[in-house]
Amino acid sequence: MKSFITFGSLAIAVMMCSHSAAADRGKILDRHGAPLATGNGGYPAANAAAHLIGYCPGGEGQHGHGGIEEAFDAVLARGESVQLTINRQLQTSTYKILQESGKRGAAVVIDPENGEILALVSYPSYDPDKLTKEDLKEQLAALSESPNSPLLARATEGTYPPASTFKVFSSLALARASKAGAQICSGTTEIDGKNYRCWKSSGHGELSGIGAALRNSCNCYYFLAAVDLPVSALVDVARTFGYSSPSGIEIKESIGALPSGNIQNAAIGHGTTKVTPLQIANAYAAIANGGALYKAHLIANKEPEKIRTIADEGFEAAHLEKVRAGLIEVVEHPEGTGRRAKLEGGMRTAGKTGTAVISDNHYAALFAGYAPVDEPRFAICVLQEGETSMSGGQTSAPLAARILAKADALRKTDP
Ligand SMILES: [Zn+2]
Repeated sequence: MKSFITFGSLAIAVMMCSHSAAADRGKILDRHGAPLATGNGGYPAANAAAHLIGYCPGGEGQHGHGGIEEAFDAVLARGESVQLTINRQLQTSTYKILQESGKRGAAVVIDPENGEILALVSYPSYDPDKLTKEDLKEQLAALSESPNSPLLARATEGTYPPASTFKVFSSLALARASKAGAQICSGTTEIDGKNYRCWKSSGHGELSGIGAALRNSCNCYYFLAAVDLPVSALVDVARTFGYSSPSGIEIKESIGALPSGNIQNAAIGHGTTKVTPLQIANAYAAIANGGALYKAHLIANKEPEKIRTIADEGFEAAHLEKVRAGLIEVVEHPEGTGRRAKLEGGMRTAGKTGTAVISDNHYAALFAGYAPVDEPRFAICVLQEGETSMSGGQTSAPLAARILAKADALRKTDP
C-alpha cells in the first residue's frame, strides 16, 4: 500500500495486472467467436461439447482436464483465448440429434477442403458446468462407473471395426491391383474350404465392378475379388487414408489398428482393423475432395496442412471416380443401402453404410459420406452403438441426413 500512495497510477496498473493473471482463464471460442468456455468455469454448450472442450473447475492453480482445456492449459492459464474451427450451433444440433436417437455413438463433420472440424460429438456426455472443485473426484468416479461410459470421447478415442465403410478402400486396393472386374454373388462363397456369407442370402447375382459392389455393399464381391490380394495391399490403402496414424487433431485421440490376417475378413472391414469416427470422417474427406488427406484440426485460422495426395501413392483418378460414382448410388439408387441419407430437396449426398458385430450383444452401425457431391463442403461420419442388431442404413444414415441438412442451413446463414 505504501507504493500505492507514493506512485499511485503505477501501483494500480500492477494490481490490475496481477489480479487478471490470477483469476481470468482464457476463453474457448467457436469459429464465429461464440463462447464454448467462458474462462470462469462456464460451459455454454454444456453436454454437447464436453469431450471436445474438457473442464477446468474454478479456483487458483487449477488445471484443465480433457479436450482443449487440457491440450491448451498453459495458453488458457495465461489468460489467452483459443478460437476453434467448430460451429457451436452445428455442435449443439448434432448432439441433440444423437441424444434423440438415445443410442451411444459419435458424429464428426469436417470441411473436406481444409480439414477443419466443424462438429465433434460423443454421446452420452456429461455437463462440465456441474463439475465442482470440491467434489470433483466423487463426481468423476460416479461418471466413470456409469454403464454407458459418458466420459469416453467416442468420436476421437473410441475405436471400432470400420465394417463396410472400409469397402471404399478395399475397392481402391483392388482397382490398383487390376482386380476390380465383374464377380458373381450367389449369397455364399467357399474359399479354402471355408464358407463366407453375403448379407443378402439370396445373392446379388452379377456385379460389373466396384461401383455395383459398393452400391449393394455385397460381401461376396470382395471375398472373390480379393482372393489373391495380399493383405499388405489393404494395409497400404488404409495407411494412405490415415488409418492407424494421428489425424492431426490437437486433442487426445486413439490411432486404431491396421488390417491383418484373413484377407476376406479384412476386405469387408472386419478382423483386426479398428478406427475412430474421426479417422473415418477424415478419410472420406479425402475421397470427397479428389484425393488429398489433410490434417484434421480444431484450432482456427491455421493454414490447411496436406498429409499426402493419394495420386502420389499410385491410386488413379479414374479409380477414385468409380468409387465416388458408387457412393452416389449407395444414396440415390433405389437398391442403395444408404438411401435414408438422402436429403429430399437438399444437397446431393454420397456415402457408405457399415454394420459391425463387435461381440454377442454389442453392435455398431455406421454411415460415412460427404455432400454436396459436386463441390463437397462436408464430410461426415455417424456411428451408433447398441445391444441389439442394427444396420448403418437404417440407424445411422437418417441421422447423417439430419446433421448434413443442419450444416447446409447454417452455412447459408452463418458460414
Ligand atoms: Zn452379395
